[in-house]
Amino acid sequence: MFKQARKVSGIKSKAGGRSTKAPKRVYFFGNAKAEGNANMKDLLGGKGANLADMTLVPLPVPPGFTITTETCREYNDGGQKLPRGLMDEVRANMARVEKAAGKSFGDPGNPLLVAARSGAKMSMPGMMDTVLNIGMNDKVVDGMARLTGNERFAYDSYRRLINMFGDTVMGVDHHHFEHELTAVKHARGARQDTDLDVDGLKEVVRRYKDVYKHHVGSDFPQDPFTQLEHAIEAVFKSWMGDRAIKYRELNDIRGLAGTAVNVQSMVFGNMGDDSATGVAFTRNPSTGENKFYGEFLVNAQGEDVVAGIRTPIPCERMGEWSKKSWSELLKIKDILEKRYKDVQDFEFTIERGKLYMLQTRNGKRTATAAVRIAVEMVKERLIDEKTAVLRVDPASLDQLLHPTFDPKANKNVLTRGLPASPGAAVGKIAFTAEEAEERVGGGEKIILVRRETEPADIGGMHVSEGILTSTGGMTSHAAVVARGMGTPCVAGAGEIQIDAKARLVKIGDKTFGPQHFISLDGATGEVMDGSVPTVEATLSGPFKTIMTWADKHRTLKVRTNGDTPTDARVAREFGAEGIGLCRTEHMFFDPERIHNMREMILATSTEGRKAALAKLLPYQREDFVGIFKEMRGLPVTIRLLDPPLHEFLPHNERDQQELARSLGLSLEQVRARVAQLHEANPMLGHRGDRLAITYPEILEMQVQAIIEAAIECKKQGIKVLPEIMIPLAGTKRELEFCKQHTVATADRVMKEKGTKVDYLYGTMIEVPRAAVTADEMADVAEFFSFGTNDLTQMTFGYSRDDVNSFLPDYLKKEILERDPFQSLDTGGVGQLVKMAVTKGRGTRNDLKCGICGEHGGDPRSVEFCHAVGLNYVSCSPYRVPIARLAAAHAAIKTSAAKGNAKKK
Ligand code: ADP
Ligand code: MG
Ligand code: MG
Repeated sequence: MFKQARKVSGIKSKAGGRSTKAPKRVYFFGNAKAEGNANMKDLLGGKGANLADMTLVPLPVPPGFTITTETCREYNDGGQKLPRGLMDEVRANMARVEKAAGKSFGDPGNPLLVAARSGAKMSMPGMMDTVLNIGMNDKVVDGMARLTGNERFAYDSYRRLINMFGDTVMGVDHHHFEHELTAVKHARGARQDTDLDVDGLKEVVRRYKDVYKHHVGSDFPQDPFTQLEHAIEAVFKSWMGDRAIKYRELNDIRGLAGTAVNVQSMVFGNMGDDSATGVAFTRNPSTGENKFYGEFLVNAQGEDVVAGIRTPIPCERMGEWSKKSWSELLKIKDILEKRYKDVQDFEFTIERGKLYMLQTRNGKRTATAAVRIAVEMVKERLIDEKTAVLRVDPASLDQLLHPTFDPKANKNVLTRGLPASPGAAVGKIAFTAEEAEERVGGGEKIILVRRETEPADIGGMHVSEGILTSTGGMTSHAAVVARGMGTPCVAGAGEIQIDAKARLVKIGDKTFGPQHFISLDGATGEVMDGSVPTVEATLSGPFKTIMTWADKHRTLKVRTNGDTPTDARVAREFGAEGIGLCRTEHMFFDPERIHNMREMILATSTEGRKAALAKLLPYQREDFVGIFKEMRGLPVTIRLLDPPLHEFLPHNERDQQELARSLGLSLEQVRARVAQLHEANPMLGHRGDRLAITYPEILEMQVQAIIEAAIECKKQGIKVLPEIMIPLAGTKRELEFCKQHTVATADRVMKEKGTKVDYLYGTMIEVPRAAVTADEMADVAEFFSFGTNDLTQMTFGYSRDDVNSFLPDYLKKEILERDPFQSLDTGGVGQLVKMAVTKGRGTRNDLKCGICGEHGGDPRSVEFCHAVGLNYVSCSPYRVPIARLAAAHAAIKTSAAKGNAKKK
């Protein structure tokens, strides 16, 4: 509210305060003339701008006018009162409409009726109902009856007005009217509304008036302008209604002035069997097929189609009803697409054989359809390649990369969490990672349900169909790992109570055990009861074409975050140009390796640690050989060990005992080490390069494995480009220390093997200090990779694993505009990135810069990365196509902006 008020006062003062003449608030359209056009959506709303524009074509649009969105702002800022002078402007424009329509408002001899329709810049379905048939009263209804020779139609229109006006404008609950209608139908043995005769409808009108008077406290207004004024006000009022506010919140719609009101003369699809109403898409919005797609109803008004009172007929069959209307509709379809160069979703009404256009807008479509339509429109020469690339929303590609739930399936949604990793998952509930592995081994399909996951759960997560957590945000462990694996995940579903001991999950008042099937939709966050059927995603031809076009235009490279040869292969198939982050810790969780890892951690001397590490070396080498082979000459950035050591140790007594036994230690010794490694703030603790500095032998083992693997590949004729990356460094000295050990180890290995390989030495930038001193860091580092998860965490001081406890509140109260762990905070964290790039390249002008945080797969963040001149972004394998497309969007938009600047 505060923000809005400030903005408005800014505008007022610009206009010179109160004394200035009121702005033009009303824009007329009719008879092939219009004061607005398609580019005025901010001021006239989407519906109003396009009604004006269609009038200009000219297409047959019933005349009317649009009251601006700025007037809605005035209305709300002025304590919800219609601005003075508005109704005068409305009356003046009604006179123009009357002239254009050749009828007159409130005149029983030749009555004009109008609709009052809402319409903001973005379409907000369900925000506000339209009021039709305004201008009808006791005298006009008889005039209409005489004029049309159709008394039934006149009374049907009248009862619709009393109902809509009472409900939408005066807040009388619709069911009071419905109740009377049912009673009359019942008394007269009518099954459908259409079965009622004139007398029946007259009875309905009488009863509706009583309902109106009873609930409103006054008679239904007979004066047409009173009706109109109230209807206009109701539309404005609805802008700040709960429904509308919620809708904008959910759809991230901000910064709009308000809704426009479109007052438009009525046309009637319910005038008899030569009349109809319908909605259509110029192409199929679900498949993208270039085939007219629509439905219509004979002898009906608009709301009947939506309400599903009668089943509409597909437009393809319109020819059987009226050849003329059908061919007219096809002609209009072509006109619309040629003019708007995009799929249109439009509404029409046919009154006694004459077709009228009531609305058109760019049609919402699935990702599949978006891709196909964009590619086909290029072939049809409607749009060019760049436009086609821009037509596909990068984020929507998710839909094309994972199997999805059958849209036709029945869904029983139990609760909703964060849509953490897209895809459809169906399985039975498992409570621990071990349980998941065991049961999957036995052939079951499993959903792993946990409060939150931890690195040790990786095996269980890997085999599960999907992961559901009750705490944790979009970058919690579960979410990040699931996205990396391409496993569907719903995180932070707070309504879920998990009793792992009793092996029960409680959602609302329902309780589920381990044999119960649930379904997760990782794209929507929905948790559903039972097993909902799925359909496989296909990488169709047009998808490939769009990606090829995207690659032509982007300059930013796209790499992947991948820890295994399988990740590497998937990512390459999706077009990754290297690995930007290979996390080595995940390699240690397999049962045999974790044992050696623990042995290393529990060793009390450097010698003991080295002995344990020597056992891990062959595993590491083998992992790297696998990845290098898959990446065939593309760069691979390997991050040395990052998490704190305690994450590798068992925390329950049974496992600790077993560990003690196998290492010949006492339980107390194991416990003491666990206690010693315990930290109050492990995220800020002994981890990252801090481990390498305390225990250089860990770094040395990893570097040896990397160089040996590279040499082995080289000998097999495979080109390798390893990039050794130090995590978490914040000072130049740390980098120097680690570099010294890295170089010494690499030199030793190369000498032993008698072969040289090239490698780069670089660092993650994830501690703010590293960004601030990037010029010094670049003295030592040959590349930077921005670890924006940690950088965000440390810049804001938000723990990314606990952020869900307050972040939702921050978003709701607009303290933050968006989750900074999902979309890079360009104003703060992004500035650190920008500064580090500039400073770093000041020292080393060929410094390679990339990003490997979760943000690398977020389209908005990718655009920022392009703008600050990063060389690449790196993201999870399944997000690679999204990043490629987002990078193309960034490049195309930037070059277009430069082109415009030049023109000026
Ligand atoms: P929404 O934004 O919810 O689609 P509209 O303003 O488009 O609301 O109106 C809903 C329906 O009312 C339309 O589909 C149309 O059938 C009917 N309608 C709107 N304006 C007119 C009009 N001038 N004449 C006849 N019917 C109309
Ligand atoms: Mg509409
Ligand atoms: Mg980190």
